[in-house]
Amino acid sequence: MKKEKIESERRHIVIIGGGFGGIATAKALKHTDADVTIIDRLNHHLFQPLLYQVATAELSPGDISAPIRAIISKNPRIKVILGEVAEISPEMKSLRMRNGQSISFDQLVMATGAQYNYFGHGEWAEFAPGMKSISDALKVREKLLMSMEEAEQLHDSSKRKSLLTYVIIGGGPTGVEMAGAIAEIAGNGAKHGYHSIKPEDARIYLIEAGPRILNAFPESLAAKAKKMLEKMGVRVLLNTPVTNIEKNKVHLKVGSIETPNIIWAAGIKASSLLDSLKVAQDRSGRVLVEADLSIPQYPDIFIIGDSAHREDKNGMPLPALAPVATQQGKFVGKLLAKDGKRSSGSKFKYTDKGTMATIGRAKAVADIKGLKFSGFFAWFLWSFIHVLGLIGFRNRTRVFVEWIWNYFTFKRGVRLITDRSGCVYCTTYEINHKELKELQEMPV
Ligand SMILES: Cc1cc2nc3c(=O)[nH]c(=O)nc-3n(C[C@H](O)[C@H](O)[C@H](O)COP(=O)(O)OP(=O)(O)OC[C@H]3O[C@@H](n4cnc5c(N)ncnc54)[C@H](O)[C@@H]3O)c2cc1C
Repeated sequence: MKKEKIESERRHIVIIGGGFGGIATAKALKHTDADVTIIDRLNHHLFQPLLYQVATAELSPGDISAPIRAIISKNPRIKVILGEVAEISPEMKSLRMRNGQSISFDQLVMATGAQYNYFGHGEWAEFAPGMKSISDALKVREKLLMSMEEAEQLHDSSKRKSLLTYVIIGGGPTGVEMAGAIAEIAGNGAKHGYHSIKPEDARIYLIEAGPRILNAFPESLAAKAKKMLEKMGVRVLLNTPVTNIEKNKVHLKVGSIETPNIIWAAGIKASSLLDSLKVAQDRSGRVLVEADLSIPQYPDIFIIGDSAHREDKNGMPLPALAPVATQQGKFVGKLLAKDGKRSSGSKFKYTDKGTMATIGRAKAVADIKGLKFSGFFAWFLWSFIHVLGLIGFRNRTRVFVEWIWNYFTFKRGVRLITDRSGCVYCTTYEINHKELKELQEMPV
């Protein structure tokens, strides 16, 4: 019988990040004899590819997230810490938490993901939020719903026009998916109960600085996606860099667009925690890693997912995608389950199973190992793969039922506005404020 090591003899493996990479690492460490700690500033794992469906009121936050503790609760060797790591001391093999606590490790896996990149214009974030978290998606949802509520009540045509204008910056999969989903709600106002909003009232712009959308897809599929979007009423502006963003206004080289509904989906940079390692990083802040995903000068520190820069056989950096993070997490977890020594000569190899993006109801594009699909079949594939990617049977079942229901009824599930501070002309707010005052003044 294998003798269990006493605590002082056991390695301590720390994983920072409970996203795709971190969870895959922890799961692959199931049978390790080491002690494992997983740290995340959030208490939940989030399926980011479906965030836009929370923002467009198709799904609830709980459908696409699950508590990290619940995901790995079966393994008593894995400890979960809710907190933010502020700094790493690679030589000391320790890290400092935001609350001042210090944690030492024998081996470290950094799976801290990425954040939105405003390319030197951090001040734009306030007016053009990106979506990386549930709270970001809920802010966007409140804004979209609030502007439809206000437009429904307003008669002033220029105010209505700005409220029913949507600008999505960035023509990658997130921008495309967001533009398509907004086109479906705003373009079908009556179906969603907004009887004064006509399809022709909505103006949806997808703005891309480069010459095409969906850069990572074959050109023919990107062209099909553009056509589908345009058919849905989205105005796709290519070669159109944004020059400035201020409150309720986007400036382009060719003019400006007035709207409170500005969404940023134009690029990411790696987590800033990586800077504390003081090792070589690429232009997006990703750390350059060895074939076993460790850092050249620190063989016991591994970087995976959106935080890592590793090239494929053609010399191109692996894309910031969930399957890359998951496969890297599995690889590092298995490596560490043995001992994780570089001398083992293990090399990570990415298996590309394909890329896909949905454009709307029964519309998507997919490139699976060189086979190109578009339309209903691509959308069916997209739905199937995304449901499978969700963690937990309950989430999968709920989302599956939700999608079937939405497909046949055209309904959007979760159109709740819980914070009306995002109003622009605040007509609805004033009405309620007055009502509230009257209520307060009523004799008891
Ligand atoms: C809106 C959107 C849509 C997307 N759509 C797709 C898609 O359709 N298909 C696809 O394949 N990919 C998609 N992606 C990309 C995919 O989600 C990422 O590639 C993937 O999440 C990367 O996994 P990761 O483990 O590297 O990081 P993440 O999954 O981002 O996890 C990082 C974790 O680290 C935690 N963390 C960060 N810093 C700290 C710190 N200092 N202390 C403690 N915890 C910390 C975070 O809270 C987070 O939980 C999308 C991303 C977004 C934002």
